[in-house]
Amino acid sequence: MEKIQMVDLKGQYIKIKSSIDDAIADCINSAAFINGPQVKQFADNLSAYLDVPYVIPCANGTDALQIAMMALELERGDEVIVPSFTYVATAEVIGLLGLVPVMVDVDPLSFNVTADIIKGAISSKTKAIVPVHLFGQCADMSSIMDLAREHGLYVIEDTAQALSADYSFPDGRIVKAGTIGDIGCTSFFPSKNLGCYGDGGALFTRDKELADKIRMIANHGQVKKYVHKYIGVNSRLDTLQAAILDVKLSHLDSYTTARQAGAAYYDEHLKTLKAISIPSHVSYSTHVFHQYTILVGDNKRDELKKYLESKGIPAMIYYPVPLNEQEAFMKIGRTAGGLPTTRELCSQVLSLPIHTEMLTQQQDYIIEHIKAFFK
Ligand SMILES: *Cc1c(COP(=O)(O)O)cnc(C)c1O
Repeated sequence: MEKIQMVDLKGQYIKIKSSIDDAIADCINSAAFINGPQVKQFADNLSAYLDVPYVIPCANGTDALQIAMMALELERGDEVIVPSFTYVATAEVIGLLGLVPVMVDVDPLSFNVTADIIKGAISSKTKAIVPVHLFGQCADMSSIMDLAREHGLYVIEDTAQALSADYSFPDGRIVKAGTIGDIGCTSFFPSKNLGCYGDGGALFTRDKELADKIRMIANHGQVKKYVHKYIGVNSRLDTLQAAILDVKLSHLDSYTTARQAGAAYYDEHLKTLKAISIPSHVSYSTHVFHQYTILVGDNKRDELKKYLESKGIPAMIYYPVPLNEQEAFMKIGRTAGGLPTTRELCSQVLSLPIHTEMLTQQQDYIIEHIKAFFK
């Protein structure tokens, strides 16, 4: 059996090698390494795929979040509500801009923030909310958008883990994750659902004025050459990465299907195991399984992880420490409430290997050893 990996980027590449190699060769032959035509072409194709009018590529997902907050003109001391159970990048940029991250708990089933949780953290200084569609499933955006409108707050979706997920509004309207809030942000880090061969990111919006401003801020705040309207950053998607992403975008739906099939297989074989909880599915979103994350109670998580590793099965803890317990955030942030769910999740989550190249034989091996551990 082939070695089991958390993500198999090489295996994925081999299957589309000729089109990727051609796309890379075209780039190098044209030598348009910065802002080559592939960047616009990819942005246009992603815009069509997501059905959102403006897609602005940038250098990585963290930059996308930072640029979003700069474009919304959030000011020093403004509060931004963010889940404590997320990757550090979401909250880091808030601190970097002199804003105050207000870290809140998440729902124990979806692992995402809800309108009810956010409501309790709103103060007179609150300016924005950053829901994270964690592990590949959307937060309940309809009620979050209602709450945001009621309080005049901006919404920035962190879609780094959920690109291609479908969100259903209560009226039946279905849209792609990241196209609901004022701005959606994503990452093309290699292991993300749509990953390039280096760093990359993008912002999405439906607002033309905001799109223009985002484009300027990502490019030194430049209106036209040597005319700078805003303090900006230098954040570009390389032409090479855009060319690779454009090839991979045409496979994104089949990649998503492969991840979902892997998840369904785990579900089917692990659901009867009482010692663990399989991922919950919410009614308003598809799950694109950036991660397949189980909960392991009774303080058995770390032991299970070690056992699996001894059998050649990698498993990862996303995330072991709540943001509000990180030294960097204690100094600058505010924690809304005791965050009992975040705490519990940090001690129970375990993400199993899931990717586009998983073999049934590998999954059988993983399932067998999880069962053997609890025997
Ligand atoms: C990966 C990730 C980011 C950051 O993306 P980079 O491209 O690595 O900067 C932000 N938020 C979440 C939730 C992520 O998973």
